[in-house]
Amino acid sequence: MRKYLVIGDHIDKGRRERSRMRVRALRNRLEHEASHDALTGLPNRGLFVERTEQALECRPDGSMLAVLFIDLDDFKAINDGVGHEVGDRVLASVAARLQECLSPTDLAARVGGDEFGLLIEGLSGQADAEGVARRVIECLTTPFPIGGEEIVVRCSIGIAVSASAGDDVDELLGNADVAMYDAKGQGDRYEVFEPRMMEQVVKRHEYDAALRQALERHQFSVKYQPMVDLDSGEVVGVEALLRWDHPEQGVLSPGEFIPLAEETGHIVPIGQWVLEEACGQVARAQRLRPRGRPLVLSVNLSTRQLQHAGLVAEIVDLLDRTGFDPHNLLLEITESALIEDTDETIAILTALKALGVRVAIDDFGTGYSSLSYLRLLPVDVLKIAQPFIDALATDGEPEIFVDAIVHMGHTLNLEVVAEGVETPEQLAALRRMGCNIGQGFYFSRPLDGVATTLIDPERFGPLDDLVEPSAPAPAPLALVAG
Ligand code: C2E
Ligand code: MG
Ligand code: MG
Repeated sequence: MRKYLVIGDHIDKGRRERSRMRVRALRNRLEHEASHDALTGLPNRGLFVERTEQALECRPDGSMLAVLFIDLDDFKAINDGVGHEVGDRVLASVAARLQECLSPTDLAARVGGDEFGLLIEGLSGQADAEGVARRVIECLTTPFPIGGEEIVVRCSIGIAVSASAGDDVDELLGNADVAMYDAKGQGDRYEVFEPRMMEQVVKRHEYDAALRQALERHQFSVKYQPMVDLDSGEVVGVEALLRWDHPEQGVLSPGEFIPLAEETGHIVPIGQWVLEEACGQVARAQRLRPRGRPLVLSVNLSTRQLQHAGLVAEIVDLLDRTGFDPHNLLLEITESALIEDTDETIAILTALKALGVRVAIDDFGTGYSSLSYLRLLPVDVLKIAQPFIDALATDGEPEIFVDAIVHMGHTLNLEVVAEGVETPEQLAALRRMGCNIGQGFYFSRPLDGVATTLIDPERFGPLDDLVEPSAPAPAPLALVAG
């Protein structure tokens, strides 16, 4: 009896020990999982912050440490292009290469979707940290052979160095982040944090806050630039161009705020407002000339608007409410926006075209023109980018390009618009090539209202008297209006 009891006791002790070990192992595993990234096996952001904090506290006198934030440029394009599964394998391979090019005392972590952090201790100066950044760029340069593809990865690196005791971990990581944004988008670059970068961040925040309120504070306006038929000289349409009357900076051009509005998503409601405002204006101007040819309204759409799920429904609703004829609405989309997510883009453009709306490729020739996509995309109009027109009549060669674009457009049954026409020589060359429509300061700068573009619809036509290079440019239409 007793004997059995002792054995039972042993069995119980053994079980208890085994279950304690299992609990310990489970706890270790959970702790590891909570502090590591499952895909790459690297420490995650939480652990990275903790280790950086410890390193700052325990740093030996006189030694420096650095944090490097590495962001993979345009990783979304890799995911979209080859699929998320291959994208994941790229991330795991990047992690492996990072570890290969670091020394054993350095710490690499995955701190975000396509962001990695490095903690480098025991530096003798900033140059050492820059050396690590150069090594990282070099080791990621060789393409990654994954899933039968050679995948090229580019990165932007921000470096923040801590040389003095008592530095705060949040501040150090924030600085590395700011420096990374400064390096961003320029392909395989690193930047070391400097206080001036902070000023830009503050300005960005201020702009962002102001942009958030600009719509409800009625600070936006639309200018209209006439589009002129190069045969008849008639104004056949207008392009709506957005302006922001910033409370402190005055009137800003789109180039100064659209990139930020795109990044933050503010462009979606702003773009919708432009459509509403411009449709209303053009409809009113049209009523002023009931017998005139209907005016085409051309509106720029940003990539972000094109990706916005509600775009088509919102346009249907707008056309319903305003009674604006969809055939007179032209939506301008830049080449680079058109070739992103091509399948989805084609689906959206097809839906818009089913409504009767027409689509233009804006700034044609400045993006990554793969001519094959022109066949795929349901577009109606090519707008030749201004730099091509700029070069017209200043030396012989560029004319060949413009001529080729005009002919290619016509062969594909597209209407061709020349942007940025500034001189009679350019106009003459474009007419010789058979370009359909022109737009530019030669005819008129963007004007305050649609009606002003129509004050004298005959003023450009017939254009025969303008083809002489010596012919003076017509006075700006705004003056006629005044
Ligand atoms: P874009 O669509 O290519 O518009 C033509 C730009 O060239 C306009 O600049 C116009 O003022 C300028 N321009 C016109 N003729 C001439 C000329 O003869 N010479 C020169 N040097 N420039 C000329 P703006 O208004 O500053 O607009 C810049 C860009 O901002 C536009 O380029 C367009 O991509 C974007 N944008 C404008 N309005 C909107 C909008 O409502 N939504 C979106 N998403 N983008 C817009
Ligand atoms: Mg445009
Ligand atoms: Mg353009």
